[in-house]
Amino acid sequence: MSTLLLATRNPAKLAELRRLLDGAEVLGLADVPEFPEAPETGATFAENALAKARDAVAATGLPTIADDSGLTVDALNGMPGVLSARWCGKHGDDVANLELVLGQIADVPDERRGAAFVCAAALVLPSGVEVVEQGQWRGRLVRAPRGTNGFGYDPIFVPDGETRTSAELAAEEKDAQSHRGRAMRALLPHLRALAGA
Ligand code: IMP
Repeated sequence: MSTLLLATRNPAKLAELRRLLDGAEVLGLADVPEFPEAPETGATFAENALAKARDAVAATGLPTIADDSGLTVDALNGMPGVLSARWCGKHGDDVANLELVLGQIADVPDERRGAAFVCAAALVLPSGVEVVEQGQWRGRLVRAPRGTNGFGYDPIFVPDGETRTSAELAAEEKDAQSHRGRAMRALLPHLRALAGA
């Protein structure tokens, strides 16, 4: 499998997959003709990732990987989950999203502030073969944002075994542990098997 599409416009995600897949050519959505991108309406990360990958395969004919991810907070029964990017009511306002979560769990004691980032990564081939892998990164939410790396909820998430928030980790440190890194790495054996088939 020489050319692969990663259904994203995020350059950081593209760079990460290129590092993982040295050898294969990885294109992003900016490298292929534009096609309508459906809103993410699935009930699970896996449904959203699969829908994104299927749409991209139908439009481009390229083997495609798509991911969907978010934060699940124990004290909020797993929310914001698939609504993470638009939790404050507006898509992609990272600061408003994390401040809303901090306010919602302001009275939750330290020992019940567990959370996890979750990522589903879907590989869909033009032949119809579909594989989904999920990665989880557990940690806890602090009471005030710290750090300027990363994006989204990184400034309030301290991974298990760490004292720094994920916004205080270098990109390579985050990739090595993160939900997205885990889900993407779990797809690698499938890619290799399909390339050799
Ligand atoms: P998407 O999968 O890129 O659509 O991300 C969904 C949303 O989940 C983002 O807008 C963030 O709010 C949150 N999220 C997903 N992964 C991360 C991460 O690695 N750090 C911080 N927030 C994340």
